[in-house]
Amino acid sequence: MQYLIDQARVFRARLAAHGLDLSDRRPHAMFISCSDAQLVPALLTVVQPGDLFELRTYGGQIPHHDTGAPSGEARTIEYAVDELKVSDIIVCGHSRCDVASAAVRAGADVPGTDMPWPDEQAVPLPGDDTAAGQWHTLAQLDALSGYPSVIPRLADRSLRLHAWFYDVDTGTCLQYHPRARSFLPL
Ligand SMILES: [Zn+2]
Repeated sequence: MQYLIDQARVFRARLAAHGLDLSDRRPHAMFISCSDAQLVPALLTVVQPGDLFELRTYGGQIPHHDTGAPSGEARTIEYAVDELKVSDIIVCGHSRCDVASAAVRAGADVPGTDMPWPDEQAVPLPGDDTAAGQWHTLAQLDALSGYPSVIPRLADRSLRLHAWFYDVDTGTCLQYHPRARSFLPL
């Protein structure tokens, strides 16, 4: 804990050392990911304070939209889309994510019909945690694409959704290419 306090105390000096500023900015992108400590979105994308609007959740899970009881995640997404009017949302999964693997094993991720999913043979087999993590990431993107605030902005092409997959061991990042139906290097 003391390390965190010490770092917070010298934060202003670190900002200055890295040439970062705190001027008011409007984020153009939202980043939704697992809360896992190995994944650090701002470090991965090297953004300035104010550039990236983040949502970190358990396993990066995005609940399906429920008008009866909007979740904290739903309110965060709607704020980004309706108020901040971000132009891009990145849903980023990661390797060795126990939550994603467990969710896929439990059959919690039901593929939607509106997006090109990986070929059938790419459906994760038991023990293939990378395929499970990537499948889980696409399932969250699918849930996101069903939000009432998201649907019209996808239709008028003012919003783009992206699925990324981060390897916590190598630091490499892949992006899902719908036409190739696979995750390829950025
Ligand atoms: Zn995770």
